[in-house]
Amino acid sequence: MAAESRPDQKLIGIFGGTFDPIHFGHLRMAEEVLEATPMEELRFIPARHPPHRSTPSATPDDRTRMLELALHDGNPKLVIDRRELLRSGPSYTLDTLRDIRNETGQNRPLALILGCDAFQGFEGWHRWREIPDLAHLIVITRPGYAVEWPSALDRLLMERETREPLDLEKWAAGCILLLNLTPLAISASGIRERIREGRSIRYLTQSVVIDWINRNKLYRHPEDPFDPQKA
Ligand code: ATP
Repeated sequence: MAAESRPDQKLIGIFGGTFDPIHFGHLRMAEEVLEATPMEELRFIPARHPPHRSTPSATPDDRTRMLELALHDGNPKLVIDRRELLRSGPSYTLDTLRDIRNETGQNRPLALILGCDAFQGFEGWHRWREIPDLAHLIVITRPGYAVEWPSALDRLLMERETREPLDLEKWAAGCILLLNLTPLAISASGIRERIREGRSIRYLTQSVVIDWINRNKLYRHPEDPFDPQKA
């Protein structure tokens, strides 16, 4: 059983990803999670070496800079946590959560935020069974993905699912909240593909992020001419 929280210790959200690049799908989702839960702070944690996918296209520095630009002047509850970028080896979520738990102590409510697609592959994560004892899970639905869980996750949900967002601040860890939001149909891979094909990415992410991508010729062949009309 997870520790009870203390009233002065508010919920921290943990949102990992490659953010290659950050886009309005991520940002809007973060904003809606803040709205739907009693969360005091939501941390974007860019992975250096994501264990379940290929190496990101942009460097850790570029991905972090784009996150900084995207979060600047926005909701002050949205912050960047750089710890995975400073760690060598695969960016295991378990290590990140342990690290944060060591800093916050046992009573601080923590919630790992996952897209529904990420949760469907959760059984493949490094020592996944230990994760719910370190943090709650908030699972977000995403367009194009039917919600059908593998049997082990079905069991996990039966044991731990709550429909009450306030439970996430009563306990330090251990609950799973399925949050039915309206995710925008935007993906980082779609953005990268558009750039490779010379198509516009306007209105898919902030213009400061688009400027950074263009100025640094990210996601395109260096010899491609830059066409501002397509930005
Ligand atoms: P890619 O297309 O390269 O796989 P992505 O757009 O899914 O990237 P990631 O950085 O891999 O972005 O995702 C980080 C987290 O954000 C994941 O949990 C993912 O499910 C979630 N996510 C991605 N896009 C959206 C979206 N449009 N709405 C809500 N959540 C999203």
